[in-house]
Amino acid sequence: MKIAVLPGDGIGTEIVAEAVKVLKALDLPLEMETALVGGAAYEAHGHPLPEATLKLAKEADAVLFGAVGDWKYDKLDRPLRPEQAILGLRKNLGLFANFRPAICYEQLVHASSLKPELVAGLDILIIRELTGDIYFGQPRGRRIATDGHFPGAEEAFDTMRYSRPEIERIAHVAFQAAQKRNKRVTSVDKANVLETFQFWKDVVSEIGLQYPDVALDHMYVDNAAMQLVKEPKRFDVVVTGNMFGDILSDEASMLTGSIGMLPSASLNSSGQGLYEPSHGSAPDIAGKGVANPLATILSAAMMLRFSLNDEASALRIEASVKKVLDQGLRTADIHSAGTTRVSTLEMGDAVVRAL
Ligand code: NAD
Repeated sequence: MKIAVLPGDGIGTEIVAEAVKVLKALDLPLEMETALVGGAAYEAHGHPLPEATLKLAKEADAVLFGAVGDWKYDKLDRPLRPEQAILGLRKNLGLFANFRPAICYEQLVHASSLKPELVAGLDILIIRELTGDIYFGQPRGRRIATDGHFPGAEEAFDTMRYSRPEIERIAHVAFQAAQKRNKRVTSVDKANVLETFQFWKDVVSEIGLQYPDVALDHMYVDNAAMQLVKEPKRFDVVVTGNMFGDILSDEASMLTGSIGMLPSASLNSSGQGLYEPSHGSAPDIAGKGVANPLATILSAAMMLRFSLNDEASALRIEASVKKVLDQGLRTADIHSAGTTRVSTLEMGDAVVRAL
């Protein structure tokens, strides 16, 4: 299996190094090749997603991605900003289904900002559609300056759109994922206000008829945001559009204790995928050796499961992560009284030992 390793910026390089270490320890026939992406690629080649990086990603069976971005690029024209590399990869690889599991590990129940009884045993899966919605609609703004901002402009807008095939395919993915879990899908929309999401709701309901074994309910996004902190365990699979999914999955991440624990997988229709932590490049802690590498290590486990079909190795990594948590090892973001604080590198080493 060929893996394109794209560490990116900020803590991206630190956390991906630990995930690569874990993959190497499994001693599988993996060929890993690294390339620049994001701000690092912009510095070297003048573009956040250079041709060579895109080619490597397209030819690989899977992409292991760190994170991109830094405040110092905020003044760049939008197409050159590091974050455009992720949009470009999603678009070029046809990655339309983003899986973001939010699992609260028993050992981290007290790291959550919610009461332990609300999150103990939490295991929900947020499925975010990635290729449509307002992120890919027509942006409009009157450009006076070329630095990506609109000083003196009268208005700016983005258009929200979804096509039937886009909704149908993500709905199938959600119902099929629910069949392997607790057989419940909550489709999140804003059908009371937005035409796009009335259409979303209608199409998801139509597809739902093909899955009589799965219970479907619909929820407005504002209520879903509230229910996620009021009674998160009521959910099993949540399926929603690109923007609502972006926001709700970050909200869900805090239920689990830290965004540093949350892996994600973005898949296309042929099983090729991009695997990355749910968090960003965390410029505030970059270079300090304190970032939590577990989200990236768990993303590597998802990569083995979804793109290599190696469930056994995925389970081995996940069991090793639980073991290091049992040993009381914690990076700063999940550290609490009575546990041992470790660095990014020490956490990676501990997972390798546990393997
Ligand atoms: P962020 O996720 O980078 O950081 C939010 C907070 O969480 C910070 O306080 C950070 O220190 C902490 N954090 C994140 N990951 C952590 C980890 N592994 N261990 C410990 N703490 C961690 O979000 P942000 O600060 O809003 O964005 C920073 C940059 O990242 C921006 O340029 C943004 O555009 C970019 N970003 C990139 C991606 C991506 O590459 N997929 C996703 C989100 C944000």
